[in-house]
Amino acid sequence: MNSIINDIEIIKTKTSKINEVDFDNLKFGSVFSDHMLECNFKDGKWQAPKVLPYQPIVLDPSAKIFHYGQSIFEGMKAYKDVDENVWLFRPLDNFKRLNISAKRLAIPELPENYFMDGLKALLEVDQEWIPKKDGSSLYIRPFVFASGNGFHASPADEYKFIICTAPSGAYFAGEVRVLIEEKYSRSANGGVGFAKAGGNYAGQFYPTQLAIDKGYQQVIWTDDNTHEYIEEAGAMNIFIRINDTLITGPTSDRILDGITRKSIIELAKKEGINVEVRKITVSEVVEAAKNGSLKEMFGAGTAAVISPIAGFGYKDADYELPKLDETYASFLKKRITDIQTNKAEDIFGWRY
Ligand code: PMP
Repeated sequence: MNSIINDIEIIKTKTSKINEVDFDNLKFGSVFSDHMLECNFKDGKWQAPKVLPYQPIVLDPSAKIFHYGQSIFEGMKAYKDVDENVWLFRPLDNFKRLNISAKRLAIPELPENYFMDGLKALLEVDQEWIPKKDGSSLYIRPFVFASGNGFHASPADEYKFIICTAPSGAYFAGEVRVLIEEKYSRSANGGVGFAKAGGNYAGQFYPTQLAIDKGYQQVIWTDDNTHEYIEEAGAMNIFIRINDTLITGPTSDRILDGITRKSIIELAKKEGINVEVRKITVSEVVEAAKNGSLKEMFGAGTAAVISPIAGFGYKDADYELPKLDETYASFLKKRITDIQTNKAEDIFGWRY
């Protein structure tokens, strides 16, 4: 696909905020870089992207995003290595997934060069915002939403594709205790669970708050039909280690095809770990916790890479995970972050 990078208009900010930012104390996703990419869909096509100063978006109150929730997003990161080269991790997979989400939400798909060249142009302008500190990165949030107007419940005729970025420090969730969900679900067969649609997350907040009120930090989503199959951990994919086997559920209509998840599967296999991609039931996990064969549970996603689970609650009982000296979680997290940040050879061709 031909490059459009030279056609991207760049309007730089007159007042950079970078000197106000404490790069040693960055909270996740709360400080935003100087610029954003904006690209509008109108008259039946995507118009040329522009790099602009980070700024509010003006929308009509009847914009369809507010009423019908046509909104999708991605999450990815840029890293700087010791020589200050900038790396992305499997960005084409984020681009493809954005279009999978777009199709499901009846949003016009983006051309690859608009996404990739737009991202490159933005990172070029804001490269000083990519943190150098070990463990830090620039979190990248591409999103698309219906900006077109009208109360008619049908797809909008105008959309905005925006990328903004946030420098972020290392992500430590601490001791995570999770509640296995018995009533609510985040997705259903034939639904939009496999898409990164904004509404999926809105629907998770209430059940998650109920779990927080009971003293847990996160919900383990189970299938909507029987609540017997383990599906995801909050907004992460989930891995369960029973004895020395690492298990994760197969992706489906209901489960997001996470880039961290599929990287972990490939990497773990390469490292000689026995990996099973199969359905796993709550009863199997509870039984394994009782007989001591449950060794680890962890979430996998871009933000935290791997987030170990310390214990879980299910039907008014609590189960603790053992505290192991050597875990698959820390081994795999180090292997992946070393590849992401150019500290290890990229045998899979994931770095970009
Ligand atoms: N599941 C859900 C529901 C998510 O929102 C995410 C975060 N994108 C993931 C899994 C993990 O996906 P990835 O590894 O691509 O970040």
